[in-house]
Amino acid sequence: MKAQNGHVVLSMLMGVIFMLYFSMMLQTVPELSGQAPVENKTGNKIIMHTHSSLNVTVNGDLLLVPNGVGINSTLWNDHSLDRFGTERKSTTFGTISPAMSPLHTHDSSGLIHVESTEYRNYTLGDFLNIWGLPLDGMKVNLITNGNSIENYANHTLKDMEKIILKIQD
Ligand SMILES: [Zn+2]
Repeated sequence: MKAQNGHVVLSMLMGVIFMLYFSMMLQTVPELSGQAPVENKTGNKIIMHTHSSLNVTVNGDLLLVPNGVGINSTLWNDHSLDRFGTERKSTTFGTISPAMSPLHTHDSSGLIHVESTEYRNYTLGDFLNIWGLPLDGMKVNLITNGNSIENYANHTLKDMEKIILKIQD
């Protein structure tokens, strides 16, 4: 009888220790992300996902749209749209930053991915700014789905669209 009571006390103690241990673990998890502003905790889902295909020539020669635009730091030159980006990650400073710009490339095929946490218009100019392709002072012709477009920078990217950008320097 005494030995049985001892078992009960022991298992109750074990239970308390486990509960304490798990409640401590549960407390540490929200603390890590607790430093981030509230607005960064939501809206982290891709709700807009479109693709446009971009072909660029400079004086008639093909200019490869590089892999990693909006992902690699050297190909991520404009951060004004970062708040619409996805795959946010915590940094050591407790802030949350996106791992990708909402406009990015995953290969050098010229396929522009739009992956955004909000439905909004993205322009070819947005993509070129992120890529870091300065076209000021150059003659630029934009042709989309066979039609010539006047203002290349303000052109809104559309799903499945074929974009041809002819640059003359
Ligand atoms: Zn995509």
